[in-house]
Amino acid sequence: MEIDFAKGNGLVPVAAQDAITGDVLMLAYMDREAYDATVRTGFMHYHSRSKGRLWKKGEESGHVQEVVALELDCDGDSILAKVKQTGPACHTGKPCCFHNRLHGTGDIILPDLVKTMRERQENPNPHSHTSKLFASENLRLKKVVEEAGEVIMAAKDHDQERLAEEAADVVFHLLAVLLAEGVPPRRVLDVLAKRRMPPKVG
Ligand SMILES: [Zn+2]
Repeated sequence: MEIDFAKGNGLVPVAAQDAITGDVLMLAYMDREAYDATVRTGFMHYHSRSKGRLWKKGEESGHVQEVVALELDCDGDSILAKVKQTGPACHTGKPCCFHNRLHGTGDIILPDLVKTMRERQENPNPHSHTSKLFASENLRLKKVVEEAGEVIMAAKDHDQERLAEEAADVVFHLLAVLLAEGVPPRRVLDVLAKRRMPPKVG
């Protein structure tokens, strides 16, 4: 299938996605020249509509995007770029460009949970279980083992509902240990990604 540059007067929108976390980083445009430069170099290039020229992402900031995969959509007029992002994707210093909520209150569950846990870590509340975990190394380490044991019991009983609940408890308490030790949960995903990341294109 060919890229349909004609539909958008020579430009196609490109959504850049973090290949490790799945986070949507930014949206920009490519013309034929930007697409060719991206495939040739293995780094994301866009067509800057404001500057009216080819633009390598991170050319000034160093916050480049290494290409992992480029996917064309069903009717050929938009591209999803899966990338390895260096530094923040947004020029504001935020990790992604989409940080001005217009509507709705929901969030993706894991980042939202981590955010809430970090708030509890920074502003302890004596009634909060999470704060208690951050206050006691002994408690949070014990909980990981305890909950892992309950995962095993639920699995041995082939109790799917309980297994999901106990697994959630393990994830939650594991996150508490990671945050308490200053290891961003993202680093865990990085390790998993390194074990299975395909070689870069281009
Ligand atoms: Zn931005």
